[in-house]
Amino acid sequence: MQGVDTLILGAGVSGLATAAALGQGHDHLVVERDAQIGGYCKTVVQSGFTWDYSGHFFHFKHPEIEAWLLANMAAQRVRRVHKRAFIHCGARLVDFPFQKNIHQLPQDDFIDCLHGLWEASRAAGPAPSSFREMLIARYGRGIAERFLIPYNEKLYACDLELLDPEAMGRFFPKASFDDVMRQLKTPDNSSYNQTFTYPEGGAIQYVEAIARDVERARILLDEPVTGVDLERRVVTTPRRQLRYRRLVSSVPLPTFLQLCRLPHDEAAFSWNKVLVYNLGFDSKGHEQRHWVYYPQRELSYYRVGYYDNIFDAERMSLYVELGFPRAAQVRPELLLERVLADLRSAGVITTQRLIASHHVVMDPAYVHVTQRGLAETARTLEALRRVGVYSIGRYGAWTYCSIEDNLLQARELVRQLRAEALL
Ligand SMILES: Cc1cc2nc3c(=O)[nH]c(=O)nc-3n(C[C@H](O)[C@H](O)[C@H](O)COP(=O)(O)OP(=O)(O)OC[C@H]3O[C@@H](n4cnc5c(N)ncnc54)[C@H](O)[C@@H]3O)c2cc1C
Repeated sequence: MQGVDTLILGAGVSGLATAAALGQGHDHLVVERDAQIGGYCKTVVQSGFTWDYSGHFFHFKHPEIEAWLLANMAAQRVRRVHKRAFIHCGARLVDFPFQKNIHQLPQDDFIDCLHGLWEASRAAGPAPSSFREMLIARYGRGIAERFLIPYNEKLYACDLELLDPEAMGRFFPKASFDDVMRQLKTPDNSSYNQTFTYPEGGAIQYVEAIARDVERARILLDEPVTGVDLERRVVTTPRRQLRYRRLVSSVPLPTFLQLCRLPHDEAAFSWNKVLVYNLGFDSKGHEQRHWVYYPQRELSYYRVGYYDNIFDAERMSLYVELGFPRAAQVRPELLLERVLADLRSAGVITTQRLIASHHVVMDPAYVHVTQRGLAETARTLEALRRVGVYSIGRYGAWTYCSIEDNLLQARELVRQLRAEALL
């Protein structure tokens, strides 16, 4: 049986960043189920259109991380784009974030939203116990019921009473009554991703940049892990058994817990899945918009993004995202007609003709952050650490995070292992 010092499961951003941080002198292998690297950060090129698995845009908070990636992708042109994001509100588009731009609504809606926000700012009730309660307590019913609740119900595909008040963490754009008042006079829609970067070759270019610091021979593709023996420290794939000293897994935590048979509370883990259609058309559509949020329950999708407005291209190139509960049977081939009809009714498609399409189901897509899930995640991650297993990444650590967070977490893990002289 082959032995390896550090075995890494998954060649997505987290797995590859761990391998890159370990460095070429360290004895390690990456085992990946898929035939390609990248995980959810893959790019599809079809009929002259460049699409990702879902719109993947980058907003680096750490200049050294961005500098490292750019140095490894010198041949790529990377666009820096000033975000133009909106909410579809019937006949008009409102600037994102909704809660700061209610003055762009028709007067009656504006007054209702503002009054609700004012009341919410004065109320001193108990701390909200769910995401839904938090939305109403912090923003009032007008804002919550017009956008925040229906939009997030479509995205998460669950009852928002189930989610933790902080389910979206720093990704939720906060706005106080004072912020909204200031916004009336001086617009400031700055958010965590006010500008973003995007490579001409799609999001996979960032993955390739990470992989440039990993020896290709150390990445085993097309090799799904089918079992993990925590006691013997052995991983099984259809082709081999591998003995490890330590294991770094980016496999979704609920799947990994089953693979390694660690007793756990299965029902504590909940998530949605997202069906993404990438659609290419023969001519241009709306300009000046990068993505639009759709809270309307009668429309099948929750967000539509325009790659052509990022690339300054001549033909409309869309990604369209639909949220589903974890247990739903998703039939992309049957849903496409409905999605196209909804795009027509919302005015996204007018005269354009569809000439290319692609779809992917991301499962899991968004973790449902709940108190029970948080507790079980913390307990199982700790139990795994005690037997030399480090479960990391958006799905390995079962959290809501960005690609930059994945890179930082992988680096931090390697730093900690070195500091504890475990490497
Ligand atoms: C709809 C959506 C939009 C997003 N948009 C953005 C964005 O704009 N910007 C941003 O920064 N982030 C975005 N993200 C988040 C980003 O996709 C993730 O943070 C990142 O891709 C996670 O990388 P990872 O390596 O942790 O996990 P993954 O990409 O899931 O990689 C895990 C790897 O493990 C492999 N694997 C699974 N099971 C096995 C097995 N049994 N054996 C071997 N290998 C296995 C998988 O094939 C995969 O390659 C978005 C996510 C979603 C769902």
